[in-house]
This record gives sequence, structure tokens and C-alpha cells, in this order.
Amino acid sequence: MMDVTAVNGTMPKPGYLESAQLSIRNVTKVFPGKKGLFNRITRQTSRDFLAIEDINLDIEPNTFVTIIGPSGCGKSTLLNMVAGLSFPTSGDLILNNQPITGPGPDRGMVFQTYALMPWMTVEDNIRFAVETVYPRMSLQQQRRIVKEHIQLVGLSGAEKKHPHELSGGMRQRVGIARALAIDPQILLMDEPFGALDALTRGFLQDEVERIWEQKRKTVIMITHSIDEALLLSDRIVMMTRGPAARIDEVLDVPFGRPRQREVIEQLPAYHELKAEMERHLFRETRAVEEARVLAK
Ligand code: ADP
Ligand code: MG
Repeated sequence: MMDVTAVNGTMPKPGYLESAQLSIRNVTKVFPGKKGLFNRITRQTSRDFLAIEDINLDIEPNTFVTIIGPSGCGKSTLLNMVAGLSFPTSGDLILNNQPITGPGPDRGMVFQTYALMPWMTVEDNIRFAVETVYPRMSLQQQRRIVKEHIQLVGLSGAEKKHPHELSGGMRQRVGIARALAIDPQILLMDEPFGALDALTRGFLQDEVERIWEQKRKTVIMITHSIDEALLLSDRIVMMTRGPAARIDEVLDVPFGRPRQREVIEQLPAYHELKAEMERHLFRETRAVEEARVLAK
């Protein structure tokens, strides 16, 4: 649940936390309409689109946070602002007490579509990222980091392969190794397993849980999977539907670590949290569908 405690009789801003590594304060994002553009089918001019409105969230170091919400609600919009790839229309994103002004080596991104360089081998893809972020690092040191991260994600033996020679699951292992190799403070993952089949997805979830035990980085991950969120996260941020999406509720996931899905799935709390998330997602998704039908 959102921790909103009364201090001296006054309510702090929702989610405000002094110890936060990342603070998202009153963040609103409006995508401007294309000025003067007239759509002959809808007979409307292109209007500004309020994607997310007044989002407040504080993330403490070494926590695994997942964001879940209906498609198109603004999850990627929010994550891209944390990555520094896009900027809020109003509000602030503050990382270690500094406003985010662009991308940086303190944040590593894992994309759903992997975004690997197709002409580079596995090790070159990872080394290229390390070299770009640490240009003065010796080649020997770069190679050591690359090797360590290839081992970490279980890709030893595939160093010289090109992305087209790898399965989707292996490509995403490269994506994760590359993001971690630059030693970011925060790992950002936008539906990292969204393009994988269910079995591979399950394997990679277990891998991420194992890797997280070793690295304990702050992670912000977008997912559509309730079970994935419950297996991996400390906190689950549930967003409402858009436009003007906001945070509905933040759930704390109380299970100890390391986690095994067979074990946590036996706990009553697992089923209570799952039911609560299902209610939220069904409600928000149903409202999106109803709005779509009415618009027709
Ligand atoms: P999610 O990741 O939750 O599926 P997005 O963050 O990608 O959703 O998008 C949220 C809303 O903002 C959607 O309605 C989408 O169409 C809109 N949107 C996203 N990016 C842009 C953009 N660059 N210009 C205009 N609208 C956008
Ligand atoms: Mg998205």
C-alpha cells in the first residue's frame, strides 16, 4: 500500500521519501498535437494528448519495482523519462538529488526488442557499450567485464555468435548483460520478456531473480504479467488507464528472498495480492474497451 503517513498533522506529498534514490514528483506528460493537422475520417484537428498526470513515486536503493497497467496507459512514457530519453511537460524526476537532464551511465536500459547491433558478435555488443561509457578503460579490463557478464547471464560459449544465430531468450540475455556491464545504479526494463514464448519467459524470470540476488541493483521493470511481478518485485506500481493515467496503488510484496515460484505460489498472501491485481487490471482494461466501443 502507498505509505502516506501524517507528520505533525500535515500530509506529505504522496510518496515523498527523503531516502529515495529516484523521486518522481508531480510528473505530467502531454504529447502535443500536430498543429493544423485535420483528420478527414474523424473530422477532428489533431489535439494535445494528456498521457500521464501528476505521477508521484519514490524509489529507494536496491529495490525491485515493477509497473503494471493497461496497454497504452503511459508506462513506457514514464520509463523513458526516467531513462532521460524524453522529458516531462511539468514536474520533476530527481536521481540522487539531481534532476534528470538526459540519458546517463547511471541508468541501463533493456528493450523488449533487444536492440542489439546485428553485425556485432555477442561479446562485441557488450564490449561496445562498455567502451562507449568508459572510453579510457584498458582493453584488458573491458574484456574482463565482458567475460564476467557473459558468465552472469549464462551465455558462455556463445561469445562469438551474432544475434541472428541466437534464440529470442539468448538475445535478451545479451541485452541484460549489456545493460549490467556498464554497472548502472538503476536497471530499466520495458517489457523485457514480452516477445518471448511462455517457457523461455519463465526461464528468464528465474534468471533475473538469480542475477538480482547477486547484483541487488535498483530495477524498474514494466510487465503485463502478474506472476512475473509477484516473483520479482519488492513493490508493484499499478497504473490506471489513460488518458491522464495516474498511480492507483503501490503494493508491497512481502515474500523473502531468494524466491522460488513453487514456494511463493503456495502462500495465501500470493493469492490475495494476485486477486487484488487482477481486479485492478480487469477494471481498468474493461473501461478502456468500453471507451473504445463508445467511440465507434
Ligand atoms: P504503455 O507503455 O503503457 O503501453 P505508452 O507510454 O507507450 O503506453 O503510451 C501512452 C499513451 O501516449 C498512448 O496513448 C500513446 O498513444 C501515447 N503516446 C506515446 N508516445 C507518443 C508520442 N511520441 N506522441 C504522441 N502520443 C504518444
Ligand atoms: Mg509500453
